[in-house]
Amino acid sequence: MTLYGIDLPVMRNPSSLTTYRTSVNLKDLDDDGEDFIYSRASGELNKSLEDIVGDLPYDIKLRLRAMGNVYEISGEIHSGMNLPCSRCGREMILPVDEQFNEIIIVMDERPRAGHSGHTGSQFDNGPYCNYVTSHDFSLSDFVHEHIAAAEPYQVHCSRPDCEEVYKKAQISDTSSPKESNPFEVLKNLSVTSKRS
Ligand SMILES: [Zn+2]
Repeated sequence: MTLYGIDLPVMRNPSSLTTYRTSVNLKDLDDDGEDFIYSRASGELNKSLEDIVGDLPYDIKLRLRAMGNVYEISGEIHSGMNLPCSRCGREMILPVDEQFNEIIIVMDERPRAGHSGHTGSQFDNGPYCNYVTSHDFSLSDFVHEHIAAAEPYQVHCSRPDCEEVYKKAQISDTSSPKESNPFEVLKNLSVTSKRS
């Protein structure tokens, strides 16, 4: 929206302007559970997701609920990642559309975890379990890990000239080393000797 040439912030519906907390103490959750909604416009995770989604939009809904002495975390994450195509090498946006329903288990002892102190495991067809050592739960870390885990080993852009660009890059990459390959030289020699 522009007024006299000045860009005004676009007003969304009032509920989306609410700013939600990005960490909670699981012991303090409402009995009915609590919802957390984050977006680029309300800005809660702009900083913490910067290294993974850049300035792409994000729409995230989380729901936390106590179930006896464990906690259920469910919701959805819609965003994207800027990644290089593993074939032609050009940047592309990979959409992230994740839906999940997981369990958080607070353990007394420190788990044999990675550096984040956060481990997880999944039992056959059961929900994914996040093992944490504190009731202070970082929702921003949780979202960050979820998006990072959605990154595939390889991505392919679907540009029509992907293959062409890849082949051109291969030719210019390998042309000089191939020329000095002794087997190439031998092959050429045998061909010419047969012909003469
Ligand atoms: Zn490509």
